[in-house]
Amino acid sequence: MRALVLTGDRKLELADLPAPPAPAASEVQVRVKAVALNYLDLWGYRGMAFAKRKMPVVVGVEAAGEIAAVSPEVSALAPGDPVVMYGGLTCGTCKACREGRDNLCENVAGIMGFHVDGFARDLLNMPARLVIQVPQGVNLRDAACAPIGFATVQHMLFDNARLEPGETVLVHAGGSGIGSAAIKMAKAIGCTVITTVGDDAKVEKAKALGADHVINYRIDRFEGVVRKLTAKKGVDVVFEHVGAETFNGSLLCLKRGGRLVTCGSTSGPSTTINLMQLFQQQYRIIGSFGASIRNIRESLAKMASGLTPVIDTEVPLDDFERGLARLESRQVFGKIVVSF
Ligand SMILES: [Zn+2]
Repeated sequence: MRALVLTGDRKLELADLPAPPAPAASEVQVRVKAVALNYLDLWGYRGMAFAKRKMPVVVGVEAAGEIAAVSPEVSALAPGDPVVMYGGLTCGTCKACREGRDNLCENVAGIMGFHVDGFARDLLNMPARLVIQVPQGVNLRDAACAPIGFATVQHMLFDNARLEPGETVLVHAGGSGIGSAAIKMAKAIGCTVITTVGDDAKVEKAKALGADHVINYRIDRFEGVVRKLTAKKGVDVVFEHVGAETFNGSLLCLKRGGRLVTCGSTSGPSTTINLMQLFQQQYRIIGSFGASIRNIRESLAKMASGLTPVIDTEVPLDDFERGLARLESRQVFGKIVVSF
């Protein structure tokens, strides 16, 4: 079977690997149909010196497919069912797992596609408990964006930032996969959305998604524009993932008691913050990583009700690297999906 294997930093090859055996007890076998790209793929592809990773590793951190076979113990899924997979190898038994806080598992054995073999292969066996059925009406290309692209945003905005209808939210990088999802999810509950983009071509696209105000951060200082737009009050929530370049500006955009939720630092991992400002303004800064299986179900339900991901491009499996290059170039608007 085909598998896309990372053998070293920036070295990807399409390999021919043996197909997996019949699924073991409590496992299912999935035929992968679509893999969606994430910044995590890019971190993995470039290489991260400090990360403990197996090499070579099959890439692909989020995907959708169809059940190819099930072990006799599995009754909830049947061959032909459309599914997505939870890519964190959680233990399923620790306190966090038992409480459904899967991304806080105390014994996680790695993230598939990053630490251990991922989804960019024709077939794989998975524990059935990590496989989630895709509801009717959601195609597999869109579903492939649920486990990370959508679920991360769901977790950030609703579990962590507790975004409420009527609030104002600043979404950074509205053209990114998660930024575009955040705009749509916040608008869907009746929030006012301010977003930033890096070029004029993306301004209209972000407006078309429903953003109320779009700031080209290369032309205007976004923190100044946000203060003007909110009559110096600031926003209730900032959706951060840009990091060093924007973090302090983002704090300046918050109203007193506002919440900043972050899941990334694409522009750099370190910054300094003013602690006086932090406590006097009673900010809440919340780190967010990944999502729970419940968040994936919630994401799929949103897709089924018409809140679909923005797809930038679809590329075939052997063009995976072209997809990564597009992601790295920041030309992208929405998600890049690799089809099988
Ligand atoms: Zn656990």
